[in-house]
Amino acid sequence: MSLRLAHGAGDPPADEPVEAVVALGANLGARAETLTAAVDELRRLPLTSDVRVSAPVETIAVTLQGADADAPRYLNAVALVRTRLAPSALLAHLHDIEARHGRVRRERWGDRTLDLDLIAYGDARIDEPALTVPHPRAHERTFVLEPWLDVDPDAALPGRGRVADLLRDLREGER
Ligand code: ADP
Ligand code: MG
Repeated sequence: MSLRLAHGAGDPPADEPVEAVVALGANLGARAETLTAAVDELRRLPLTSDVRVSAPVETIAVTLQGADADAPRYLNAVALVRTRLAPSALLAHLHDIEARHGRVRRERWGDRTLDLDLIAYGDARIDEPALTVPHPRAHERTFVLEPWLDVDPDAALPGRGRVADLLRDLREGER
């Protein structure tokens, strides 16, 4: 079996399109150009339409040791897509896009030319090592919630509530 099928990327398409939320981040290289190119690639995905993207936001890198003001800063954005790709198939495409932009997987949360995370896939709950949705840390990441709210003021994170409320709580906690 190919690696992709072993990871479930051969799962059949959904009957109805689902709204999926993709977080984009880049902190090496030509960050803005990389994000633009990645969004273009999302628009060209099979079974996928209506790609909407937030304005980019610049953020301080978060590493396993915490926020690192000395690391190269990130540009982050959030894209909403309507897709019939199964979650595993969508994630496999996200990994392909990362790979085309020279992403080398070295250290978790390390510097990267492009990181694409699947934040939500409709209301689906998936709890596997290769794919957990909703993304388990999305609710505590300003760099996800802020651009998400920009592209969808009514956004809600399944199981966590409205993105506007989550963001407000996070910012209050920072004060
Ligand atoms: P991170 O984004 O946390 O720095 P990576 O991009 O290197 O880490 O991804 C690590 C692994 O996380 C990938 O192999 C991927 O299969 C897995 N993963 C689990 N859930 C998700 C998700 N919702 N979105 C993206 N990757 C996920
Ligand atoms: Mg990732």
